[in-house]
Amino acid sequence: MTDQTQHAIHKFMSGLVKRNPDEREFHQAVQEVVETLMPFIMENKKYKDACILERMTEPDRIITFRVCWEDDRGNIRVNRAWRVQFNNSIGPYKGGLRFHPSVTQSVLKFLGFEQVFKNSLTGLPMGGAKGGSNFNPKGKSDSEVMRFCQSLMVELRRHIGEHVDVPAGDIGVGSREISYLFGSYKRMENRYAGVLTGKGLQFGGSLGRTEATGYGCVYFAENMLNHINDSFSGKKVAISGSGNVATYAAEKAHELGATIVTLSDSSGFIHDPDGIDEEKLAFVKDLKEVRRGRISEYADKYSSATFTADARPWSVPVDIALPCATQNEIHIDDARNLVDNGVKVVAEGANMPTDLAATHHFQANKVLFGPGKASNAGGVAVSGLEQSQNALRLSWSHEEVDQRLQIIMRKIHEKCVYHGEADNYVDYVKGANIGGFIKVAEAMIAYGVV
Ligand code: NDP
Repeated sequence: MTDQTQHAIHKFMSGLVKRNPDEREFHQAVQEVVETLMPFIMENKKYKDACILERMTEPDRIITFRVCWEDDRGNIRVNRAWRVQFNNSIGPYKGGLRFHPSVTQSVLKFLGFEQVFKNSLTGLPMGGAKGGSNFNPKGKSDSEVMRFCQSLMVELRRHIGEHVDVPAGDIGVGSREISYLFGSYKRMENRYAGVLTGKGLQFGGSLGRTEATGYGCVYFAENMLNHINDSFSGKKVAISGSGNVATYAAEKAHELGATIVTLSDSSGFIHDPDGIDEEKLAFVKDLKEVRRGRISEYADKYSSATFTADARPWSVPVDIALPCATQNEIHIDDARNLVDNGVKVVAEGANMPTDLAATHHFQANKVLFGPGKASNAGGVAVSGLEQSQNALRLSWSHEEVDQRLQIIMRKIHEKCVYHGEADNYVDYVKGANIGGFIKVAEAMIAYGVV
């Protein structure tokens, strides 16, 4: 990288940090993009002259609102919620809702910013957004979650619509929450429209949506492996998380012949050297989705496994790592451990689970590294397919949706290779950032200064 480019990155980031103080996660997500995009923008004067990067790092709008609800003991509770509508240049805003105590405006801005690139990479007409609340669903009864969702929708309904903004699930927002949200939207607006995705199959959901992010991540990683004439077959895989993305990534990787040796949650990780097969995965899905228990219970049930409290699984020697829990769960020490133990591929199922120093370490050691905006795009891609089915008023079979998902993940991989390959190594971060940027940037230039 030339001194001139480095200077341009530094100048851009200083301005961004000044304009968005105390938004650490947002700074991190932009820094990762700017590092690879700045050289490309400097070579393409039209993007520089139109100030595309300055415009793309400023959300179209952020809606912040209060959510009041009553708990089971009759206490009044107050939470804060946001919808960050980042960019709708190539389609209606689209992106999940997260319910977790760690949710802040900075977290949602990082997620919304990444979503713009991710949605563009899918090739579908979707802009980028993200929303959520600092509400903690853990330990709440179904009735409390329902009352919270209903109260949140009282405000959110003013800002969404099938041609405006179509939210979906994310951490803490699964089929239960989407159902409550959709039910209250429908009641208040008296219209039945595809304003949310991830809906139940009985009311407009798509077959294959539940599995899409995890399966898509494994399809993307399989493409990475195929590109170097390799595959999942016979590989040892570490997965973090035990929610939606993690369990379906584990299911598909197992189906492709890999041995899954870890899963985790926010209390620690389990290591099962014998492998986590269909039967054990069914136990985990029931444990986390239905009984809402802790992953440590896996080690109580299966004697082949050990549970390590307050730790992440990256010390376990594996060929492939799929971080599928949350942001910033692979730091430099974890990356060093993984590299020293011979990891070949890291594909992010979660959003920004790898921090910048760890990403650089993987790349410096020629580990193939798939960033979330490419490797976890399968979820939003099938959400896009759910919107198409809602608009057409029909539903496609599981096989048809899965085939479309596989094609979309293959095409995203091709874009990454096209923009990111040099000297027999694919820089997937560069490939995804440039590949996602071009379509949005061209649309913004075409619209003029708006
Ligand atoms: P879930 O809520 O289903 O599962 C989240 C998992 O991550 C749980 O095992 C949870 O453990 C764990 N986790 C959450 N926070 C932390 C933390 N601070 N430290 C350690 N573990 C944590 O969410 P999803 O599987 O849907 O989402 C996982 C990731 O994938 C997120 O980054 C999300 O943005 C991303 N993603 C999801 C998509 C989707 O379609 N669902 C689409 C694209 C990306 P615990 O049970 O203890 O909370």
